[in-house]
Amino acid sequence: MTYTCVAGLGVSGTAVARVLAERGERVVVVEAVEGERQLAAAAELAMAGVETRFGEMTLPQGVDRLVTTGWAPHHPLIAAALAAGVEVVGEVELAWRLRPPHAAPWLALTGTNGKTTAVRMLTSILLAAGHKALAVGNVGVPVVRAVAEPYDALAVELSSFQLHWSSTLAPHAAAILNIAPDHLDWHGSMAAYAAAKGRVYERAGTVIFNADDPECARLAEPYEGAVGFTLRVPRSGQLGVVEDLLVDRAFVDDPVEAAEELATLADIRPLAPHNVANALAAAALARSLGVPSEAVRLGLRAFKPDPHRLSHVERVGDVDYIDDSKATNPHAAAAALSAYSSIVWVAGGQLKGADVDDLVRRAAPRLRGAVLLGVDRAAIAEALARHAPNVPVVDIAGQDTGVMDTVVTEAARLASPGDTVLLSPAAASLDMFPGYPARGEAFARAVRELRRRREH
Ligand code: ADP
Repeated sequence: MTYTCVAGLGVSGTAVARVLAERGERVVVVEAVEGERQLAAAAELAMAGVETRFGEMTLPQGVDRLVTTGWAPHHPLIAAALAAGVEVVGEVELAWRLRPPHAAPWLALTGTNGKTTAVRMLTSILLAAGHKALAVGNVGVPVVRAVAEPYDALAVELSSFQLHWSSTLAPHAAAILNIAPDHLDWHGSMAAYAAAKGRVYERAGTVIFNADDPECARLAEPYEGAVGFTLRVPRSGQLGVVEDLLVDRAFVDDPVEAAEELATLADIRPLAPHNVANALAAAALARSLGVPSEAVRLGLRAFKPDPHRLSHVERVGDVDYIDDSKATNPHAAAAALSAYSSIVWVAGGQLKGADVDDLVRRAAPRLRGAVLLGVDRAAIAEALARHAPNVPVVDIAGQDTGVMDTVVTEAARLASPGDTVLLSPAAASLDMFPGYPARGEAFARAVRELRRRREH
């Protein structure tokens, strides 16, 4: 019998331990933090016969396998397992191996940005087609928990970390949305990061790629019959945009001649170029399962964006305030900055080693002002000084979370009627906030406070 060590009592780790224990397998969990939540999870697992070891992360004697939810190869526990010749697998890989025969097909999706949005669009389309479908993976429900349930299809969001620890996944179809530098500290290099993403294609039934993204096109190149999607007019074998229509020229009965209308741009919310790309990727995955075009339209219309992704907070004094706190890297912020024409930009936080020069250079003509916060704000200020020397910049030095009121007050001061105040930080939030949702909520609260002050 396999003896498995699970790395950490996170949501996925706890699910893995429980599922293996329910199958009668021997499991031990190692966890560094002995907090209230971890103790409660350990107590529950103990009732299922799972041992949890708190404290130093060492590999328990005699384990045959280590399951990780996406820890880096240089983490001491993972490194110890690799050195000892113990197999390391990701939670998603384990889930794949545990699939019963005739389990639901997987529609897998990865990319630097837009995964959650596209996976939710996909689920909405599948539901509109009458399929019993569920979004799993990074989006919330651990894959391992859903894999044996009676679904018609699983929409699986995969991170580069999960893909790094996967080796046998064979999804019905797999899509890569885009590839831009992110998490390079984890993967070690851009080449390693792209290679991890590319693994999603290795055994996929249909390969779907962003034809407008050179790195994605390169990864799809070895696969004959790969289906591209583009914001331009699609060639035969692609999905794309013709005037205000989303058009499929790949999954149609007669791919040489025929094109099928899927939806109109007005069906996509919020309507921004990157979101059209997300919709096309979702549509392509759904179409690979034979979903009719009408369900694509209905699914996109029914889709509700998650918070903190280009969310409209308020209009105060003819200025729109937008919360895009989820933009935790420059590529995501670039998408948001290209969606508006006259912007007061709120940015900064932890850049994780990313370069913002290109982002700022491209955005410069649209900027009316910038308010910078967080540890790495100086790098953004320097890029602004180079590429937008006439744009007024306010530097917010405070590190406490209450600082958002000052940020919004300063942004309002810089904004003229018709402008958009856009929180799209291009950086992670953990230097000042518990996470990007808290950063977005602090921004929204401060905007509502501004409106109240203006009304009195
Ligand atoms: P992920 O799950 O990959 O982090 P999300 O859907 O949560 O993706 O979006 C993350 C951020 O990226 C948001 O700020 C969003 O506005 C932006 N974004 C969404 N889709 C794209 C895309 N296709 N290209 C670039 N940025 C995007």
